[in-house]
Amino acid sequence: MPVQYQEVRTSGKILNVYENPDSWFWVSASLNPYRGCEHNCRYCDGKAEWYRIDNFASHIRVKTDSHRKFEKELLSLGYIPKERPSLDNFLPGSSVQETHPRRNITLFAIGGGVCDVYQQAEERYRITRKLLHVANKFMIPISILTKSDMVLRDLKIIQKINTKSYANVSISITQIDDEVRKIFEPRSSSIEKRFNALKLLRKNDIPGGIMLMPILPGIGDTEENLRDIVKTGKKIGVNFILPAGLTLKPGRNKDEMLTSIQKKFPDLVPLYTDLYSNNNKYGIPRHDSNFSRNGAKIVHEFCHRYGIPDRIPRYIPPNVMKINYIVSTILFNLTYYYQYVSEYTWQKINDFSKAARNIEQLSQSVDSLAKKDLKRLISNETILEVVQEILQTGNSTELSQYQKLDQIFVGNPSIDN
Ligand code: SF4
Repeated sequence: MPVQYQEVRTSGKILNVYENPDSWFWVSASLNPYRGCEHNCRYCDGKAEWYRIDNFASHIRVKTDSHRKFEKELLSLGYIPKERPSLDNFLPGSSVQETHPRRNITLFAIGGGVCDVYQQAEERYRITRKLLHVANKFMIPISILTKSDMVLRDLKIIQKINTKSYANVSISITQIDDEVRKIFEPRSSSIEKRFNALKLLRKNDIPGGIMLMPILPGIGDTEENLRDIVKTGKKIGVNFILPAGLTLKPGRNKDEMLTSIQKKFPDLVPLYTDLYSNNNKYGIPRHDSNFSRNGAKIVHEFCHRYGIPDRIPRYIPPNVMKINYIVSTILFNLTYYYQYVSEYTWQKINDFSKAARNIEQLSQSVDSLAKKDLKRLISNETILEVVQEILQTGNSTELSQYQKLDQIFVGNPSIDN
């Protein structure tokens, strides 16, 4: 089916600002300049009825006013473009980042799930590029996720943003074999081009890594495939490799993937049918299958062997309470490792993530709390011990079992600097 582009104006806000930062990607706002995606990945979650985007891969809605909306919304949130002189800019040691926007957005995702910002339409419309110019103007930190090497077209502007604040590029790679890629991600860049793009980004000091997601059951979850991706990542110097399993929401999302499995891997139909027989509304496979944990565990072991973090190092902007972010990030990382690498109960996961969230949202610094207030904030004794250790030493022996402590943050900030 030929792809149709429809130019539209953004209805409502372009920026989706989250209540809490996402504890996997660390972003706290996202924006989508397109609705729909020509890459047409067979498993794409964006195809689910949930998002109400009919003909997802063949009818691309192009929000031609995205960059103007983005700029307007940043201004209304209290961000100030660096070109505009303000009293703040003349104060000693001041910078635009140190102005105080009404919402503290620690990282902006350029593209957030219902499109790839470097799909083919971008060649013609160049909207992503315009968004990057806005990000540069306001010196805001950004994160880009793509399956296309077209991202290299914008290398210069990404470098500028990274010099002034922070820019991170993730490339999604789930298969080492390009023939398999062609089946499931037919209109995206080849695997070779994606690795080359990452290599070049890293050569130019852009923080970047691999989104090893979704790991496809029975296809991408072999030790060989996962090892080869990690090994190649190591060779080109990626900063992280983040794995995740496949979700299939009931309806179009699951039906389309199952059709491809039926056509190309008929032996795997019983496996897929069984894994997703629970019809979970978020598309999560049956918990007792342990499918997502198994893939994450294998990637964890390979990453450990090759010295690559399997969590994204977190960027902490200068205008936030650093110590709160250090503590909350360590707790969030522990939550991940309990859930995917060691043992867990839902109670443990909930307690750790709740404590992380509470600390991140504190309006005062966590190390300034009186003992009794800290105890009131964190009632769980085990978590309290972890937090007290971080506050006293800047480290966590608990987390060191899973992750090198100098790989948790971008620039490895210490508690005292
Ligand atoms: S690149 Fe991303 S948004 Fe586009 S079809 Fe593939 S999974 Fe969906």
